Amino acid sequence: MMTKVRLAGLGRIWFQRRMTLLGLTSDELAAEVKGQPGGGLAHKLYREAMREGRFDPEGAGLGPRAVEAWHSRYHLELLEVVRTHDEPAPDGRRTTKAVLRTHDGFEVECVRIPMGRDRWTLCLSSQVGCRLGCVFCETGKIGLVRHLDAAEIVAQVVTTRVKLAWPVQKIVFMGMGEPLDNAEAVVQALRVLHDPRGFALGQAQLTVCTAGHVEGLRRLSSLGWPRLNLSVSLNAAQDAKRDKLMPINRRVPLAELQAALIRFRPTERFIFAVNYCLLPGFNDGAEDVRAVADFCRPLGRCLVNVIPYNPGSRPLTRRPEEAEVEAFIADLKAEGLPVQRRRTKGQGVMAACGQLGNVRLRAHRQRLPVYDA
Ligand code: SF4
Repeated sequence: MMTKVRLAGLGRIWFQRRMTLLGLTSDELAAEVKGQPGGGLAHKLYREAMREGRFDPEGAGLGPRAVEAWHSRYHLELLEVVRTHDEPAPDGRRTTKAVLRTHDGFEVECVRIPMGRDRWTLCLSSQVGCRLGCVFCETGKIGLVRHLDAAEIVAQVVTTRVKLAWPVQKIVFMGMGEPLDNAEAVVQALRVLHDPRGFALGQAQLTVCTAGHVEGLRRLSSLGWPRLNLSVSLNAAQDAKRDKLMPINRRVPLAELQAALIRFRPTERFIFAVNYCLLPGFNDGAEDVRAVADFCRPLGRCLVNVIPYNPGSRPLTRRPEEAEVEAFIADLKAEGLPVQRRRTKGQGVMAACGQLGNVRLRAHRQRLPVYDA
């Protein structure tokens, strides 16, 4: 967003791009405004912006010069709430999808997921669409429209907090997009969400989920956060099968992904979450179980999350029967792997894993190459 700034005494109008506060950490903001009129209130204004969605230099008691200086450089841009979809739950703790609109008119989705008594996880989007094209995923069918910047990622948290009164204790990057295909913005958003003067979310309250973006893993690793959670969408542990499900595997085969994860492991005690979407008749055989075990063992500590497939607009197959899910989990456990079944939440409102996306967005896809590792 551009703003006109009249420079005192010069009679000239300059055009300057205003920055949104939501993409900065408090220390970055304080450093930028140091020595400027009203710069001493940076931390107060930052806290109000993040926690209350309010940017109000006038209300902070600053004089006109300082107020103008703040407004000429910064603004606070929330997203528009287009609609929400609730999935009713017997205990009243509903999974809710929010469709939010960016300043240039694109819709992104985030999902609030109940995690137990008075605890909620917010699943964020990192891109409009996604270029990785996993065949079971609605977002992948859109293609990549554009990346979200750090401020737009953080704005999902502030917008849902301020406009929808959604509290949040955990954040997962599992919404629209491959977070590590937009690693710079995601890393900056993580730093902002972790800032003690803003949301003050601990590393362990933040999770990044990747389909296996090796360059992005290196960037994430450079943060040096040993307690940040990482989950990997595996979905098949044999290259021939994974190639069919996740085109990224043709560029980064399983052995390469496994090596990148081993390099990433920040401590001996670190636990990788390995997500496995169970597609009956495709990746639920005895050889698949053995392949998952072979992939996981060298990683150190892992937890395999088995997620029953959610049929989307063009189903690949049917939803697995309960007995099939239980049998697959039992076989993985017999291989010595810790396993949990991820309860599918939000499938009734297309808010479950692989279901986020908006068919209209497909018209906006860019002709960008598929991910090149
Ligand atoms: Fe992209 Fe994730 Fe969907 Fe794959 S599953 S297409 S990485 S959003």
